[in-house]
Amino acid sequence: MTSESITLQKIIGHFFTITKHRHLVRRNCFKMGLYYQGLTHDLSKYSFTEFWKGARYFQGTRSPNARERELFGYSSAWLHHKGRNRHHFEYWIDLYDEKQDGTGSGIVPAKMPDRYVAEMIADRVAASMVYKGDDYTSASSYEYYEREKPVAVHLIHPDTINKLEFFLKMLSEQGENATFKYIKEIFLTGKDRLRWEKELEERVKNERK
Ligand SMILES: [Zn+2]
Repeated sequence: MTSESITLQKIIGHFFTITKHRHLVRRNCFKMGLYYQGLTHDLSKYSFTEFWKGARYFQGTRSPNARERELFGYSSAWLHHKGRNRHHFEYWIDLYDEKQDGTGSGIVPAKMPDRYVAEMIADRVAASMVYKGDDYTSASSYEYYEREKPVAVHLIHPDTINKLEFFLKMLSEQGENATFKYIKEIFLTGKDRLRWEKELEERVKNERK
């Protein structure tokens, strides 16, 4: 059985990695006026389950969840995390069973509330910055999304996809500050609500074709 020992070095490495990530996300959230979310982002990473798994499988260059998956086929730390943190689209995946007998049932993604869409953008920017280091550009978050899209698209509500893609594109074209300013002043105040209603309608129409 492959297992990995826990060392002081890994505990410290993991602690600084998650604390640095929280710091970057907090800065992004504050730019959008999301103070409570900025302060509480990813706090479950300090919980017993997430912290000790994260420290044991600490890699330095990639997520400990990836290592846990390699060893066991799934990551219990990630399951714990995504079940408690609303800024992950995975939190909003529900199941649907219309006839109560298994027919017509399936995965149904629920719409993400706007303030969690905003926190998701803050999270993705922060994660891309750390992951890419000196190679980070404002387009990095969009490039990451393009790689996960073929699988993720079936797990995200069409309204959330519209918003996510819109802001990732805006990031690559106009940069972080302009995007966070737009999210704070227009998106979170609901000034562009009509746009999202129209875009959702069009997306659903196109999917039916
Ligand atoms: Zn998280």
